[in-house]
Amino acid sequence: MRIGQGFDVHRLEEGHKVILCGIEIPHEKGLVGWSDADCAVHALMDALLGACGLPDIGHLFPPGDERYRGVSSLTLLEYVMRRVNAGGYRICNCDITIMAERPKISPYIDEMKKKLAPILELRSDAIGIKATTTEKLGFCGREEGIAASAVVLLTEV
Ligand code: MG
Repeated sequence: MRIGQGFDVHRLEEGHKVILCGIEIPHEKGLVGWSDADCAVHALMDALLGACGLPDIGHLFPPGDERYRGVSSLTLLEYVMRRVNAGGYRICNCDITIMAERPKISPYIDEMKKKLAPILELRSDAIGIKATTTEKLGFCGREEGIAASAVVLLTEV
């Protein structure tokens, strides 16, 4: 068994979209980043890579690389999954926590799980996605950004 954990933050600004776990969530501000700034998938990818002892996403998909400008993080996740599988591992389960004061995430969680399930080759009940506010404290509480953390468990095939 191998465990991995990941964490990511993106800034919220007007003129951008909020995309989390591949799902666009209507909001007056959006997440800023070189890719689609999906911090939930970024945290998940770093958890997967960490479990395999591989370099993080900043190393694999460097900001500033034109190949990844505006790219869907689900495309990057597909690549990471190929690396996980090539390393002789498959995922047992994963668990993601999204930290945001707004927008409200919970109505989108089922849709998020359905989006991730085929890429991770997991049933929806092996994918945990939770959302929490930070009680108006810190940068998430001030709605300056959204943070996400993720853990995964891998097993050797
Ligand atoms: Mg990121």
